Amino acid sequence: MTDLRTPLERKAWEMIGPPLYYCAECMLRVKVTPVPGSEPIIKRDARCEHTGQIIAPRKATLAGKGGMSVAKRVKVKAHQSASSITGRSV
Ligand SMILES: [Zn+2]
Repeated sequence: MTDLRTPLERKAWEMIGPPLYYCAECMLRVKVTPVPGSEPIIKRDARCEHTGQIIAPRKATLAGKGGMSVAKRVKVKAHQSASSITGRSV
């Protein structure tokens, strides 16, 4: 794992907690836009070149509007792509 966060971003983690989604490799935030009836749009930080797992640390707060299932699908999808590249379970 390579932590690419800036000092400011680290401070934000300490003060307000981690972002809604972030890359498991570099810990930079990942923007996930739910698309009804389709795969969610995943937009990573410009510094993030990873294709692996996305962490969704605040699953509980997503439990309302079907966000839970979206987060789960993202994680599963990311997990699958990571496995296919490295050949190991992450
Ligand atoms: Zn990354």
